[in-house]
Amino acid sequence: MLQTALKLLTKIEENGFHGYIVGGFVRDHLLGITSNDVDITTNATPMDIKAIFQDAALPQEDYGSITVRAKSVRFEITTFRRELTYYNNRKPIEIEYIDDLLEDLKRRDFTINTLCMNAEGKVLDLLNGKVDIEKKVIRTVGNSYDKFSEDTLRILRAIRFATSLDFTLSGEVEDAIKKTKHLLKHLSYERKRQELDKIFTSKNVKKGIHLLKALGLDQELELTRLDHVHNYDDVVGIWAMLEVEEHYPFTTNEKELMKKIRTVLPLNNLDPEVLYHYGLYVNSVAASQKGIDKKEVTRAYNDLAIHARSDLAVTSEEILSHLNRKPGPFLKNLYEDLVHLVLTGNLQNEKEAILSYCKENYQTA
Ligand code: ATP
Ligand code: MG
Repeated sequence: MLQTALKLLTKIEENGFHGYIVGGFVRDHLLGITSNDVDITTNATPMDIKAIFQDAALPQEDYGSITVRAKSVRFEITTFRRELTYYNNRKPIEIEYIDDLLEDLKRRDFTINTLCMNAEGKVLDLLNGKVDIEKKVIRTVGNSYDKFSEDTLRILRAIRFATSLDFTLSGEVEDAIKKTKHLLKHLSYERKRQELDKIFTSKNVKKGIHLLKALGLDQELELTRLDHVHNYDDVVGIWAMLEVEEHYPFTTNEKELMKKIRTVLPLNNLDPEVLYHYGLYVNSVAASQKGIDKKEVTRAYNDLAIHARSDLAVTSEEILSHLNRKPGPFLKNLYEDLVHLVLTGNLQNEKEAILSYCKENYQTA
């Protein structure tokens, strides 16, 4: 990926412009972490980039950036810019393209995100990002209070980087977060969720939760039930415990899972019928929130006599012909009955046993 990115930079340079890999990729590279996206900053305009990369360029002109696909990796190429005015603490309403790398770096959030790499693979450190990476500290580029007031998403990014990289927040960043956190209510729930998801899926999630609470962000983000989360292995499980679907956006599928997790929470997750009806995943997540080892749940699930109706040792045709009956609503009851008995060990999952049970209980004439 690095080699492909450097080739893109060389191509930009060959066309008479300057281009640098910037931000997360360089930061992660110095930390020995593999990045999954590469951001490139350049003095070439989106039009120039389109002309240089032609078919590979997918414009995202609204944001003044172009995505270039090379070797199935997406490289986001953005023109140097300075954001001038902010509206509603979030969207810059005027963007001025400027021919100056340093100015572009100054608009960025944290010093660790200002490192650049040129076409030769040399790291440029114009705003002391390297020393902060070495010290493992999150420091804003310039005044923290101003940075967070301009764009409150940065508050959550600070927590996210402190969590995923296991860095500390500088004193100034912490103070500024406390002073600006009330502005988080203007940030969309989509943006909040995106950052929170990154915090919740980090291996170091406990630190993130600690920071959210210690800085009082839990209240501002309406995560008032954080203390109800007892296990952080599963992000849907975390959201299920937080019960914030009323505000935060989730897919229908996610909402259903969260509801099911909460439904089985007060139930016995090792109970065969609960396992059968709600499945392994939902029960594992609920069990882990109660401190029950997931392995126990998996074992109990694997031990179930049947996992679906189709696992019963008879087909409905066989039952109907044995009873000499036509299909009808009674089949639903019959199946519920069979599933219950087989799961609870009161009926063997064997053809003879099931058919004779059916005859005794569902024979009409
Ligand atoms: P990752 O890709 O690992 O999530 P990243 O630092 O690359 O982290 P991106 O969202 O990809 O984050 O942004 C790329 C770069 O753009 C950042 O490194 C930073 O320099 C800048 N940036 C992103 N979001 C902001 C923001 N809200 N305010 C200021 N600069 C930002
Ligand atoms: Mg990135």
